[in-house]
Amino acid sequence: MASLFSISGSHLWQWYQKARQQAVAADISPDEVDWLLQEIAGLDKLTLRLGSFREWPQINLPFTWESLEQSWQQRCSQRLPVQYITGTTPWRGFSLQVSPQVLIPRPETELLVDLAKKFSQDSPLAAGIWVDVGTGSGAIAIALAKELTNATIYATEIDKNALAIAQTNAKNLLPPDRITFYQGSWLQPLASDRGRISGMVSNPPYIPTAIVPTLQPEVANHEPHAALDGGEDGLDYIRHLIAIAPTYLHPGGILLFEMMAGQASPVRELLQQQGSYRDVQIFPDLAGIERFALAYKNDS
Ligand code: GLN
Repeated sequence: MASLFSISGSHLWQWYQKARQQAVAADISPDEVDWLLQEIAGLDKLTLRLGSFREWPQINLPFTWESLEQSWQQRCSQRLPVQYITGTTPWRGFSLQVSPQVLIPRPETELLVDLAKKFSQDSPLAAGIWVDVGTGSGAIAIALAKELTNATIYATEIDKNALAIAQTNAKNLLPPDRITFYQGSWLQPLASDRGRISGMVSNPPYIPTAIVPTLQPEVANHEPHAALDGGEDGLDYIRHLIAIAPTYLHPGGILLFEMMAGQASPVRELLQQQGSYRDVQIFPDLAGIERFALAYKNDS
């Protein structure tokens, strides 16, 4: 992160102590303060633990002291996610830029990429076209590009601001033009690739509308509802993907997406009833929740 402002070590040390106490009082893990300073001030864990930076004459920060203080108060009193303060999040071993215009990628979504890798390995699918549908920050598309090194990677996103973030992330993390980005709704921009796609991967909005405001305030009050709200039963976009994917996948191509706890049975049924899929499979996340659905398009 570019450093434009600076503060004395002793001043930052005082702030660090105070912020950790405020975190505890607000029922936030004090380790978030450590992570925040690692990200914005480049301090490592040991330096933080030992407090040795207290003696340093100057520590660089990417924004003013006042703005750091203001953001931290928003963290504690308004539950602003700490990742929106740093503008970054770690995910699958790399660092992604995030802003309130994109969902902060969750650790469980990393498994979606492991499944894509596992089911394409040793198969011609690995050298096909893979699409991250509704890419948001670009997380899934970028991870696919890193894992499926022979695949052509596309990403679609309807929101211009989110798309700009995804493109910045791709630029920071991948060789030029590794991913082709398209602005548009779901698969709509890919009309000319109908019947040619090997893999469609998505973390679509899947939370039922009435549940969205009941999520933890970090999510409900700060993350983009367009990336969360899946309509009355949460399945609006999943139904849409299941309905349109067979037009775009080639025979034997894979549809793979994330869903919410409790959605596995209706999702399995939707995939089976659609009539264009075979080998429908459901996979749990690390917490044991049925979280991912995979299906192959029928062979012609
Ligand atoms: N997993 C996210 C959450 O817990 C929801 C992501 C989504 O709707 N795709 O809030």
